[in-house]
Amino acid sequence: MQSLNKTTDSLLSSAKQSLLYTANRPDVVMTRGEGMYLWDTEGKSYLDFIGGWAVTSLGHSPSVLQEALTYQSGQLVHASPGFYNKPMIEFADLLTEISGFDKVFFASSGAEANESAIKLARKHGALRLNGAYEIITMTNSFHGRTLATMSATGKPSYQPLFEPKVPGFIHVPINDFDACFAAISDRTCAIMLELVQGEGGVHSVDAPYLRALRKACDVYNIMLIFDEVQTGLGRTGKLFAYEHYGVKPDVMTLAKGIAGGFPLSAMLTTAQYDLFEPGDQGGTYSAAPLGMAAGHAVVTEILERGLAGNAANQGTLIQEKLTVLSKDYAVNQIRGKGLLLAFDVPVGSAPVLAAECMKEGLLINAPNAHTIRLMPPLIVTAEEVEKMIRILTGVLEAYGLKNEAVYS
Ligand SMILES: *Cc1c(COP(=O)(O)O)cnc(C)c1O
Repeated sequence: MQSLNKTTDSLLSSAKQSLLYTANRPDVVMTRGEGMYLWDTEGKSYLDFIGGWAVTSLGHSPSVLQEALTYQSGQLVHASPGFYNKPMIEFADLLTEISGFDKVFFASSGAEANESAIKLARKHGALRLNGAYEIITMTNSFHGRTLATMSATGKPSYQPLFEPKVPGFIHVPINDFDACFAAISDRTCAIMLELVQGEGGVHSVDAPYLRALRKACDVYNIMLIFDEVQTGLGRTGKLFAYEHYGVKPDVMTLAKGIAGGFPLSAMLTTAQYDLFEPGDQGGTYSAAPLGMAAGHAVVTEILERGLAGNAANQGTLIQEKLTVLSKDYAVNQIRGKGLLLAFDVPVGSAPVLAAECMKEGLLINAPNAHTIRLMPPLIVTAEEVEKMIRILTGVLEAYGLKNEAVYS
């Protein structure tokens, strides 16, 4: 069944005519999702190991999300950012209770949550550190696409774009404490990083490094910010990635998986950094009822079904299966935590591999020319892992990506 009686071809030509060209998209139009699967307008199904870009934590169109949105839209869609609403209070209570933080600010996207963290860091610098405003971030990091979060981002390809950038960001290599320490000065108000760099190709920080950062932040009264937009809420096999390290930040940002696909993000902090005053931060859709109801339903489901535990178990299974695959095929550097996983393939072959898997009905992501990333919904089962490995093996075989062919 196709919407508007349009064929896929005419939909695609309309898309090319009317949408700004901001992404390279394959020539398919997605029309329906259920659980681990997406369907296009041609009726073809795809086993989804991209998971809406680490967003659809409960799979596609989960019933708890449908029910929460249906109920809440019948009660109240939008009151005004100037009023409290009931779902706002309930979800703030839940998130602060489960996260170990005292206070939360809600927005709609990861970039906005990070903007809030950046503002809070500058406020901390202004009030307590004689106007310090510099934020140290990491090479190859990703923090979003607003001008400030692009400036914070350490992706080399962002460097020449949209100059001049927002000033006050210093980039240092990940897992190099000396480099970070050398960048700290009396202008530094915060250090901001991902615990597993997602867009950067799934690279984790080391525990001793993170502990050293925490200590330096304590000594110099610098705010430590963890961008858990991609790693938060079960993705890495713990509810929050910081739990793997036993290092707690002063500020944590969440988005992607928090509401299973409804646009929602959060910035959490401790009572010590309860520094915003009315006027400092806000937004028309901040803590609006629909998003709050969606977030509450999704997070409750993640907790009740123990989906962080499933992410840990299935992640281990996937790593084991990939390790077996690596004996015969050019699959290297298997890495990641929980269901945020990656492996390397010969340079240039990652996008081809992803495209060929898509033809075979499997969605996997190529964040760069030599990396394949897997980030399926947290509900993935062993049968679906098996099927993913089967399709992947077939494509590796068809393309002759053999182990000895590339690496001697
Ligand atoms: C996706 C992502 C962002 C940006 O989130 P948006 O919702 O796209 O604004 C920020 N930080 C990290 C770590 C991300 O993965």
